[in-house]
Amino acid sequence: MNDAASATDATARLAEALRAGDRRALARAITLVESTHADDRAAADRLLDSLLPETGRAIRLGITGVPGVGKSSFIEAFGLHLIGAGHRIAVLAVDPSSKRSGGSILGDKTRMEELSRHPAAFIRPSPAGRTLGGVARRSREALLLCEAAGFDVILVETVGVGQSETAVADLVDLFLLLLLPAGGDELQGIKRGVMELADLVLVTKADGALARIAGQAAAEYRSALHFLRPPAGGWQPEVLTCSAHEGQGIAEAWQAVGRFRAAVEANDRLAARRADQARAWMWSEIEESLTAALLADPAVARLVAELEPEVTANRFAPGAAARRILAAFRGSGGP
Ligand code: GDP
Repeated sequence: MNDAASATDATARLAEALRAGDRRALARAITLVESTHADDRAAADRLLDSLLPETGRAIRLGITGVPGVGKSSFIEAFGLHLIGAGHRIAVLAVDPSSKRSGGSILGDKTRMEELSRHPAAFIRPSPAGRTLGGVARRSREALLLCEAAGFDVILVETVGVGQSETAVADLVDLFLLLLLPAGGDELQGIKRGVMELADLVLVTKADGALARIAGQAAAEYRSALHFLRPPAGGWQPEVLTCSAHEGQGIAEAWQAVGRFRAAVEANDRLAARRADQARAWMWSEIEESLTAALLADPAVARLVAELEPEVTANRFAPGAAARRILAAFRGSGGP
């Protein structure tokens, strides 16, 4: 058997093991899609292609909140609750600041201890990457692989800082925002953009002395969201409270996910949202690949080195510089 045939065979075996729900095969498959080697990329594309019919059956949930809001505590309680109800849950992280070896916030081994040991759960820390686009792309492919492996609830977690929430919202069906039990002035500190993305808001730590404050905060967020997010696609974002420590509000959060799903499916919004996401994904792949090819071109690299300082010093118009760089790319066999 030649090399190409044996590689195809290995990919087919990996796909088979993954379809059977083998978590080790799933982990290997995710490592393959995260690889930047050209041979691995070809194998990853074959794998994803063959598994595509098995994808799309999970509910995809995004989850964000500032560090310390209680994301991992919530995911642990929520995940165990879902497993108790017969689901299989995968948790993926999108954290563009992570370095695999350097202790990413979302990759910390001590998080979600019980869930991570459960055979019906699969937890994967964020892939390392220089660009958010690259990290998000690999997470999207990992999400498809988890679906093919039979995980029917996928949680994509990100820290509530920067642009990563938008990238995650573009991956998922429902975006869940966790907020601290604080109201009044703190309400003003929430980034509007993040509030606007939320389909469901949970005020965390609603227990003990914080229970009353959490209830008040939920009421304030509810009226704020009413203006920020009027009903759309049959859904008005809900605000609930929960306590991961006491297990309160966890089942209710899952019921709210069910209500959301029923509402958007009744309006054909779920399929439409996924179709838009798939289209946007294709174009972002094209943009990324084109930029990578452009930067790898030696003639272009020389011109970039020459023109970029001119542009930043205001001696050369940015648009004209871009057109010259693209012309050089076309001239050297680019598109
Ligand atoms: P993350 O950084 O968003 O993942 O937050 P963690 O889940 O690590 O929680 C941050 C801190 O909040 C920890 O000290 C937790 O014990 C605490 N915490 C999380 N959930 C709850 C809760 O339901 N009630 C209370 N009182 N504290 C909580």
